Amino acid sequence: MTVSSLINPVSKEWDVSLLEQYVAQEDIPMILSLAISPSHRRDTVCWSHTKNEQYTVKSGYWVATNLMRKEEEIEVLQPSITKLKAFAWKVNAPQKICHLIWKLISGQVAVTRDLVRRNMRCDNYCPRCGTPEETVTHAIFECPPALQAWELSVTPSSSQIFPVSSIYANMDYLFWRKNRILEPEDDRDPYPWIIWYIWKVRNDKLFRGIDRDPLELVRYAESECQAWYNARDSVPIPTQVQTTEETQSLSLCNICMVDGSWTSTAQFSGMGWVGKDTMGKIQLMGSRNLRRRQTALHSELEALQWAM
Ligand SMILES: [Zn+2]
Repeated sequence: MTVSSLINPVSKEWDVSLLEQYVAQEDIPMILSLAISPSHRRDTVCWSHTKNEQYTVKSGYWVATNLMRKEEEIEVLQPSITKLKAFAWKVNAPQKICHLIWKLISGQVAVTRDLVRRNMRCDNYCPRCGTPEETVTHAIFECPPALQAWELSVTPSSSQIFPVSSIYANMDYLFWRKNRILEPEDDRDPYPWIIWYIWKVRNDKLFRGIDRDPLELVRYAESECQAWYNARDSVPIPTQVQTTEETQSLSLCNICMVDGSWTSTAQFSGMGWVGKDTMGKIQLMGSRNLRRRQTALHSELEALQWAM
């Protein structure tokens, strides 16, 4: 069955009775909100892993390494540490956090197990939960307060996928596998800040005896992450802001103004246009409604199309 078989050939509308027969009830409103192409193009094959639905080698590689990888292959295909270490410097976060992530992957942070291995005199157990051996994976991912922080964070976690008992598998997940990320370098997940504050909170406990609440940790990490992006995004401010009000449409003779209205809960979306003459008097106008489209942007575009 193709999509076109669900469209009534005479009315050129979705065939609701066929949809009810073949599609899950909760998906029907979404399908009905899809505008049908007025040119009635034939069905074509599209690729759902890129925004523009065009296949790219990069997205194909992502699907091959993430979605098509079989359960038993995961162990064998563990990423090399070199690749993980290199990506630590590309993570969207301040340098100090990238550096900490790099140190965690390289095994260069002073967790108690490593101190004992280097013959430092200290206790081997975890300063927070008392488990007999504190490894990097334990400190950042598995110690109960750390685990709780990951569960409270927006980073998707689930048993057997993340977090697991391997720092490499966990970092591989955070870098490339969570959320079907297509562009790991554009990832805005606050996980680097979560790692940073889990490590800080662990040190606060170890050296100063202070206990911190995991929820407070997560909220603080998220707000710090947001503040960092705000600061980074707000740097280049264009200098043309003041002039916008005067220049608009003054040099035009006849103008047409269009608008679409859309609310996520309404059954219909609306559109309207007015044509004004050189004196600014309304000469022509129109308005209508349609079944609600997927987004406000769809409605705006349809309003423009209709007015034209
Ligand atoms: Zn612990």
